Amino acid sequence: MTQAIVLSKDGETFKAEVRAISEAELEAATPGDDVVVAVEYSTINYKDGLALTNSSPVVRKWPMVAGIDAAGTVAASGSSRWKSGDKVVINGWGLGETHWGGLSQRARVKGDWLVRVPAPFSTRDAMAIGTAGYTAALSVLALQAHGVEPSQGEILVTGATGGVGSVAVALLASLGYAVVASTGKAAEADYLRSLGAREIIDRATLSAAGKPLQKERWAGAVDSVGGATLANVCAQTRWGGTVAACGLAGGMDFPATVAPFILRSVTLAGVDSVMAPMTRREAAWDLLAAHLSAAQLTTITREIPLAGAFDAARDILAGRVRGRIVVDVNR
Ligand code: NDP
Repeated sequence: MTQAIVLSKDGETFKAEVRAISEAELEAATPGDDVVVAVEYSTINYKDGLALTNSSPVVRKWPMVAGIDAAGTVAASGSSRWKSGDKVVINGWGLGETHWGGLSQRARVKGDWLVRVPAPFSTRDAMAIGTAGYTAALSVLALQAHGVEPSQGEILVTGATGGVGSVAVALLASLGYAVVASTGKAAEADYLRSLGAREIIDRATLSAAGKPLQKERWAGAVDSVGGATLANVCAQTRWGGTVAACGLAGGMDFPATVAPFILRSVTLAGVDSVMAPMTRREAAWDLLAAHLSAAQLTTITREIPLAGAFDAARDILAGRVRGRIVVDVNR
């Protein structure tokens, strides 16, 4: 039997619990999937917080094993790409939403969804990064693809103490960019500086409605907040700069004008991690492996047991989490 976090609905009654699932149940829920992964670690992302508390319609099939991420060892494979013993990581592809997920001691998935855990990372490191960190890397790749280079000036990271934000600050700093971190947690200024931020700004300076065009400052930005913050970031981006938009921690709306795009050639680059093609995923993981240091990862991460996921879910939605949470699913 496998211990897993199972989400279920009976009419309007929602239940989230740790319970044992059988191999037969797992097989029946994942027909046609060709790889069984003995999961070692999973994680709590913002989306996991929403799913575990039933706060927004993340889960689209019931019952559902929660968890949008997993890392572990291949236990059985019918895929030519993988063999028993391979260390793998999986992010998205509907895990924990439409497909039984990673907050479980075992997962059955399609071999085509898996990425090899790149050296020097362990499976625990892969989950310290998780979807949040891999999305940060996709966002940095988007800036690079649009020609944003360290010599061009400051890069703003919003939601900086969050999962996406922390990894974005660390990665950009390691790549030589001058990072400015926007946060609502003034007490975490030292944390952000230890990851490589050169300057910290109060997120309140970005959260109120602002003018369509403002003083040009950023050569680029990684935004995990959305809403008025994203509109202000675009309005403050320098001519030809790029803003990678990947999140909505502050809101789903985008109360902006076209002015930054048509008068300053600003690019708004959208970033979706869930359906990203394999080549882009591998490029993101390679970038992380080459530029995220072990010390940075240690600073960002804390670990909890499987049953700790429920409290962590409430904490991440309440904005009480700093960095990343790794879940040891066998503890
Ligand atoms: P976290 O909760 O770890 O981080 C979000 C951070 O945003 C918080 O730590 C806080 O940082 C800031 N924040 C929270 N609430 C507000 C608010 N009301 N106004 C302004 N800032 C706020 O979440 P993640 O880093 O895991 O995810 C961040 C966002 O990115 C989420 O919306 C998530 O859904 C999205 N996401 C999107 C992906 C994609 O594929 N596009 C993949 C992964 C995540 P601080 O206190 O420092 O200001």
